[in-house]
Amino acid sequence: MSAPTSGSAAPISPSVLFGDDPHRRLNILTGEWVLVSPHRMKRPWQGQLEEIPPDDRPVYDPKCYLCPGNERAGGHRNPQYTGPWAFENDFAALRPGDSGQELNADGLLVARQEPGICRVICFSPRHDLSLPQMEVPAIRGVVDLWAEEYARLGARSDIGHVQIFENKGEVMGSSNPHPHGQIWAQQTVPVEPTRELVHLGQHHVRHNRTLLEDYLRLELEMQERIVCANDAWVALVPFWAVWPFETLVVSRRPVAHLGALDDRERDLLADVIKQLTARYDALFAVSFPYSAGIHQAPTDGGRHPECHLHMHFYPPLLRSATVRKFLVGYEMMAEAQRDLTPEAAAGRLRG
Ligand SMILES: [Zn+2]
Ligand SMILES: [Zn+2]
Repeated sequence: MSAPTSGSAAPISPSVLFGDDPHRRLNILTGEWVLVSPHRMKRPWQGQLEEIPPDDRPVYDPKCYLCPGNERAGGHRNPQYTGPWAFENDFAALRPGDSGQELNADGLLVARQEPGICRVICFSPRHDLSLPQMEVPAIRGVVDLWAEEYARLGARSDIGHVQIFENKGEVMGSSNPHPHGQIWAQQTVPVEPTRELVHLGQHHVRHNRTLLEDYLRLELEMQERIVCANDAWVALVPFWAVWPFETLVVSRRPVAHLGALDDRERDLLADVIKQLTARYDALFAVSFPYSAGIHQAPTDGGRHPECHLHMHFYPPLLRSATVRKFLVGYEMMAEAQRDLTPEAAAGRLRG
């Protein structure tokens, strides 16, 4: 296969090159391929219709274990917090402690003890809000708390990676509609970031620039997958997106982690998050469910010049507030596949 051409001219659009023809696209972050089948957008669709429960949450819910002043599991009581607030998860998937134990039976049964810490971040004391409904300065408070938690957890000798994420909406398995996210910090760099680090590292060694810096330059030349942007951040549907309205938020300046952002970049991250999530909510006139997460440098003691701070949004909705995509059949057995092109998805989110 020939290498991509580089030059001053913007690359040819896939819709011009392939038209409606099926083609595969490479995810340069993970090395995985996705099959794109634009011609199938013409087939008749018989979608499943689900009931959408009305979003009539109160400002304060006495039964919510995340609202200020309420009691949580194990007799803990939340403080009367007034801004974003983080605490240790009462049902943590990881626990601090030694990682001495290892199992290796002839390389066939391999396991290792994994120490870590799980935290919950309430974005707001208000039970009825979500990120797109919060004001930019309030989201900025969340950005600051993310940065603080990353620095504090990452400074520990037993923590090599800090994963900040949010599951929003029942469909994504969120157990509570109170606006909140999570942080899972652990000793080992987990599978998905490890995959990305390989490709980020290879590109940086070859070019002495970050992979996302070069990728972002191409996307800004082409414009067809950009959703929204400001002076410090760009939100786009990646060329290799798997989920119909998947997006990637990338910092214009190649910084490795949240702690490296200046004051203005933090304000503008809050701004782009609000812009993007508001566009999601407007798309199908529903509080848009998604899983989102931040990828940044591991805290394993290494220098990571290849890392470039970015945020992934993986929303499951496909065609309406109730019709969603599942990764089944061919996608479980073979590889990811989509019908709606990333260019068309970006157009829908812009429009
Ligand atoms: Zn609540
Ligand atoms: Zn990533």
